[in-house]
Parts: sequence; structure tokens; C-alpha cells
Amino acid sequence: HSSKLPHLGTSIFTTMTGLANEYNAINLSQGFPEFDAPERLKQGLAKYCNQGFNQYAPSSGIAPLQAQIAALTERTYGTNINPLDTVTVTSGATEALFVAIQTITHPGDEIIIFDPAYDSYKPAIELAGGHAVHIAMQAPDYAIDWQHVAAAITDRTRGIIINTPHNPSAKTLKQAEFDELKKLVSKHQLLLISDEVYEHIAFEGTPHISVLSDPELFSRAFVIASFGKTFHCTGWKMGYCIAPEALTQEFRKIHQYVTFSSFTPAQLALTDMLAEESEHITALAPFYQHKRDLLVSALQESRFTILPSEGTYFLLLDYSEISPLDDMAFCEYLIKEVGVAAIPLSVFYQSAPNDKVIRLCFAKEDDTLLQAAQMLTTL
Ligand code: PMP
Ligand code: GLN
Repeated sequence: HSSKLPHLGTSIFTTMTGLANEYNAINLSQGFPEFDAPERLKQGLAKYCNQGFNQYAPSSGIAPLQAQIAALTERTYGTNINPLDTVTVTSGATEALFVAIQTITHPGDEIIIFDPAYDSYKPAIELAGGHAVHIAMQAPDYAIDWQHVAAAITDRTRGIIINTPHNPSAKTLKQAEFDELKKLVSKHQLLLISDEVYEHIAFEGTPHISVLSDPELFSRAFVIASFGKTFHCTGWKMGYCIAPEALTQEFRKIHQYVTFSSFTPAQLALTDMLAEESEHITALAPFYQHKRDLLVSALQESRFTILPSEGTYFLLLDYSEISPLDDMAFCEYLIKEVGVAAIPLSVFYQSAPNDKVIRLCFAKEDDTLLQAAQMLTTL
């Protein structure tokens, strides 16, 4: 019996969190908050379970949540969307990405992704019978070479997946890059999947630019978001996809046979949260910017070179002055000998560069960050 994904092993997030637990290391590897979801959200979930809202939601999501997502889109980007025809609630951004990729990819199609790329894109493309075409971005600024992208487009190219703010590089796409992207997708009639799960975590000076704020790009795009990142509830696996009506119709055909619908009590609780606590979202970027700055200043005396973090809750460190080990071996050493777990960057590349770069997650209590920084400063 042959494997459908012969080159694939276990996700780096499972591996590293497993090792962190085994060696009792501070886990700055897999990205998830150490702090709890807002009280109101948890109480809402309990309330709706107890009130008996425990059966299937409509496949596309409950209408009040779709409406709140449209209101958030209008507040954040000034863009009006029709909630019933364009918003689909999904079981995390992971499901939305998987379904969007299945929606656009026919056997033999090529989908352009940018390395270092989030690890769920490529397997989803391959399961659809497509090919991931990798364009590498280079440390330390992880800029996209648009001439390289243009040269990679063939008559089999179907779409491009972008991610901003970007995991793992912590870079945000700038307006000039959006302009280049726009030229290419309209010239070649490409579809776009825009992974914007960190949309509300972009720092001062490097604001998030959404595909939702550009009508021309949005007309050919699936924009994907995650409540897990926004409301510190990654374990709820709740997200959504916004796409123009015709694309949404195709997306929903597949979504209905992947999960059919997503967790009903969570949809109700998230509806109330969006309606009544919008300040949680506006406070999110300053909240994480404080943590970024704390970690950066605590690492100032270390021998790591700190790369700029413009958004997300990740920080990249270059350890080339500290160790000749490759990044996987260095991360194992960090867990076993130093007591801090990180993510090696090479796993996010098709052909890994010789960079010596690791990723730290700073969605942690201040004390945890200070303790980890102190341990890393001994190196
Ligand atoms: N895309 C990116 C870039 C991510 O970092 C994550 C979360 N790690 C996801 C998608 C998946 O989000 P969710 O947990 O909502 O499935
Ligand atoms: N998105 C998280 C990260 O980048 C992990 C998600 C997962 O564990 N699959 O660390």
C-alpha cells in the first residue's frame, strides 16, 4: 500500500512540544498563548452548552457570527462584505486553508508558496494532486523577489498563497509588495489564498495590510483568519474564510464534506465576544508588542543576533556566533542542555539555506520570557 505523502513525517510542532514536555523545557516552540482566553468567552461557551445549543450549526456558520465577522471587517479595513454570501466559519484556519487549497487546485496545477512556508500548505496542495512551487525568501529581511515569482509562473500556475504577518519570519507585507503581487495575479489571472491569521498582531510602524482592503485583489482571493490567535483560544480550532460569492460557493461545496459545520457553542460565544468586547482586538497588538520588546531587551546581552519582528508572536534568532550545529541539532541541544524549546527554521523550506536561525514564540507570561532569556544568555 503506497503512502499519499511519502516524504512527510510528523509536524515539527508535535515533535518539539513533545520534546519540551519530555525534558521539562520552557516551551517557546509551538505557537500558542500561555495565558487564558478572556473570561467572557469561556463563560459564554459554558452558558451556551448549558442552555442546550449542542446540535449542528448551519454549514456556513450561524448568521449572527457571520454578521459580526462582517462588522469586524468593516471596522478594521473599511470594507463592506455580504456576510451570508462571503463568510464561512471553519474549524480553525487549518480547515479553511485545506478547503481553499482543494477548491482551487486541480491535478497538475501549480501553486506558488513562499519559503519559509507554514507547514500545512504543501501537503494540502499535494493531496489535491497539485505541485507546490517554492519561492525562497532570504534572511534577514525575508523580502520577496518578484522577478523570481514572475519567472516561476507557467500555464499550469493556478494560484499563490501569501501569509501576512508571516509565520515564521514575523515579517509584514508592504504596500509595494502588494502592488507587485497585484500586477502578477491580474496579468496571469491567478487566484490568491491570503493567510492572515495574525492580522491583529502587527506592530507599530509595520501595519497589517489586508487583501480585504484591496477590492481588486479580494475579487480573486480567499482571506483566512483564526479566532485562536485573536482570542487566545488555539484549542477551540475556530476560524473563517472570506471570499467573493462565486468562490465561496465552491469553497462551501468542499467545506460541507470536510466538517459540515463547526462547534455551535463556540460560534455563539464568539458572536457575543465580537459584539461586546471589540477592545480586546484593538489591545492585542500593543499587548504583544510589549512582550516582543521585553524579550528583545532581555536577550540584548546574549550572543544571538535578533532579527526584526514586525508582527505575529514570533521572534527569530540567528545563532551563528554560538554554534556550528545545524538548526535541528541546535534546537535539540537547547531543549536538553539549556532548557528552552524553539523551532528550527529549515523545516519550513524545500531546500533549506545554510542559515542558522531559530524561532521563539513570545505569547508567554513576562516571567516565562525573562527566565528563558536568562537561560539563553548563558550560551
Ligand atoms: N496559518 C498560520 C500561518 C499559522 O501560524 C497557524 C497557527 N499556527 C494557522 C494557519 C492555523 O490556525 P488554526 O489554529 O486556527 O487552525
Ligand atoms: N501555528 C502554530 C505555530 O506556528 C502551531 C500550529 C500547530 O501546532 N499545528 O507554532
